[in-house]
Amino acid sequence: MTIDISKYFLTFANMNDEKYMRRCLQLAANGIQGARPNPMVGAVIVAPSLMERAGDEAIIGEGYHVRCGEGHAEVNAFASVKDESLLKDATIYVSLEPCAHYGKTPPCADLIIKKGVKRVVVGCIDPFAEVKGRGIERIRKAGIEVEVGVLEKECQWLNRRFFTYHSKHRPYIILKWAQTANGFIDDHFKQLMISNEQTQMLSHQLRAEEDAILVGHTTFDRDHPSLNVRHWHGPDPKRIVLTHDRPLPQLMDDLYQHGIQSLIVEGGCQTHESFIQAGLWDEIRMEVAPITVSDGTRAPQLPSDITLFDKKEYGENTVTIFSKKSQ
Ligand SMILES: [Zn+2]
Repeated sequence: MTIDISKYFLTFANMNDEKYMRRCLQLAANGIQGARPNPMVGAVIVAPSLMERAGDEAIIGEGYHVRCGEGHAEVNAFASVKDESLLKDATIYVSLEPCAHYGKTPPCADLIIKKGVKRVVVGCIDPFAEVKGRGIERIRKAGIEVEVGVLEKECQWLNRRFFTYHSKHRPYIILKWAQTANGFIDDHFKQLMISNEQTQMLSHQLRAEEDAILVGHTTFDRDHPSLNVRHWHGPDPKRIVLTHDRPLPQLMDDLYQHGIQSLIVEGGCQTHESFIQAGLWDEIRMEVAPITVSDGTRAPQLPSDITLFDKKEYGENTVTIFSKKSQ
């Protein structure tokens, strides 16, 4: 009986591909504030090791897109390679398809071809209209092996704001509220401090990472929230107050036209429910504190098409993140 061992080699290769793609994602995430409105991208260059043991390989270069207008991940990764003679046998891993158009920098697909690597592994296709498969096509036409879709879901998730903006033509929408253990968001209709120091910091981190923040006019008139970043480092989001005369789809279109890729909705209850009813949400962040009040505004009703994404405890408070079931 002969045993086909080729499938085991394939599994091993895939495992390595995933390992290096994970490193790309790790690097890419460093661009969360600087890369905007560009996507976060990481790249890793791996070459067979000069060591004698067969199968050994080593990372010879890596980089990520640090700041919009500056070098893309691939440019920074190639710039970090000390011995370019290793590139002819190397594989470059990139979390997002290399660009094929002249933006603020020349196309990375051309750079990859010029550098002459042996293989290219791409996490996911770029949904941006000027790329959308063209980068991959160009590299393949030059005779370089290209593999697409390694850790695809993770790569898309990292750039969920960018993907939603370019595919749905609206910002990525995060509905966020804090409630008591018995489901109220205020105390006798007056403001109530539900968040603790840790979750307050988390909220301000979120503000620094998203483009805009919205509240309803009732919340704005009653609480006069500053909606800026104080307990974290980063830029303030653009502030939007929802008034009765702005239907939501039109507002979404305005935000799209203004290049707003992500939006936090911080209430109140009516505002959240109008977003839920219109199906205009991607993520719900619900904080629950172990306190109760006897009366006040009821917290929004969670929609039925949700799936639990994450649940963490911060002191005595719990933050639960839900995403849409279809995602
Ligand atoms: Zn590029």
